[in-house]
Amino acid sequence: MTKRRVGLWLIGACGSVGSTAALGLSAIARGAMRPVGMVSATPPFLGLPLDPLDSIVVGGHDIRHNRFLDTVNDLHERSNIFTAEQIAVCTPDLDSWSANVRPGTVLQTGTAISDLAELPEVQQVRTPREAIQRVQADLKSFREHHALDQVVVVNVASTEPPFPIGPDHQSLERLIPLLDRTAPILPASSIYAYAAIDLGLPFVNFTPSLGNSLPAIDELAQLRKVPHGGKDGKTGETLLKAVLAPMFAARNLSIMSWIGHNILGGGDGRTLSAPENKSSKILTKDAILGDILGYKPQTHVSIEYVESLDDWKTAWDHIHFEGFLGTKMMMQFTWQGCDAILAAPLVLDLARFALLAQRRGEVGVMHHLAPFFKSPMDVSEHDFFKQFAMLQAYVEKASSKA
Ligand code: NAD
Repeated sequence: MTKRRVGLWLIGACGSVGSTAALGLSAIARGAMRPVGMVSATPPFLGLPLDPLDSIVVGGHDIRHNRFLDTVNDLHERSNIFTAEQIAVCTPDLDSWSANVRPGTVLQTGTAISDLAELPEVQQVRTPREAIQRVQADLKSFREHHALDQVVVVNVASTEPPFPIGPDHQSLERLIPLLDRTAPILPASSIYAYAAIDLGLPFVNFTPSLGNSLPAIDELAQLRKVPHGGKDGKTGETLLKAVLAPMFAARNLSIMSWIGHNILGGGDGRTLSAPENKSSKILTKDAILGDILGYKPQTHVSIEYVESLDDWKTAWDHIHFEGFLGTKMMMQFTWQGCDAILAAPLVLDLARFALLAQRRGEVGVMHHLAPFFKSPMDVSEHDFFKQFAMLQAYVEKASSKA
């Protein structure tokens, strides 16, 4: 029997997260590193028939350049992550996967992103339909060229500005005729989501961009019988909020204010320094406390770009809370992490879970992936422990039928 082979198609492939996911996948598959940071590699998940990492081939879209190794070397030099040995072991995979990276599209991404584009082809479409067709041609050729049994698409591209949705996004009947017009109807993240799901490929949105989170695209997923999920990976400050806020609630300690200041560098930091792009991120970072606590304390989230930090990020949070007899107390924490190192293992987890969901015949939003996201689609539960219990319940069900 020939061995199964599956594809991981990354939108924004050669950014920090995409390149770190590719390097990590190769390093673990070659036995050079342990899968530390990957949820799917921990004991509760070992009974699931997830795709082994050495069966995964990587490809993707980008708009700047198409070489994983360029970004990996840059991260190594500037952010002091990876070792020279890790890079050397993975270079053959990274070189061969770079040949699978195609020019993407910058349709309706706003100037902070379209100004990044270096590959001339990315500007060459006029309508969403043309962009969808080009993306689909790339996906089909990847699947055929590598004789892949399944392909999953994960969006790790730069954060787009918020894109307003209206009546035209509520159904396929309304949306489809508009795909042939030049008027702005879908941002690039949603064009990729549409293209993938229409081809029957599972789609995961790791970014705060609109992506697959509109009713017409969910309708498409139902029609094509495809699982999809998102949005915005929960890797740092928001993960801590989702863990700590339930503790305050369980002890009946009343939070009066929660102020979070974030500074970061890297490509993500640069994109988020554009006010419109930043507002997408602030929306997903700021929303969860009210849902967990049942009341809305005063909150503030700031995000500032500090170029010298490269891919490192610091969050300072100040939590002012009221205890017994009205006594005011405070908690403060500092979180210092390397963004790509936190995100990449989750990208690999999400890809494996989405591929499994499709093999199990699941259709529509993958609610069980809520603990991975800041704004889990279609899930109002933001307590990390309850979200993780949802994932565990799913694993029990999926393992018993495996
Ligand atoms: P990055 O700037 O290093 O990489 C983004 C890549 O996307 C770049 O290579 C860029 O050229 C490419 N790109 C931009 N627009 C594109 C388009 N329309 N089509 C194809 N490619 C496109 O950023 P990053 O640090 O890798 O983060 C990637 C995304 O993941 C961001 O949206 C970020 O907000 C999100 N995210 C990251 C973390 C984390 O790093 N811990 C957590 C949650 C979400």
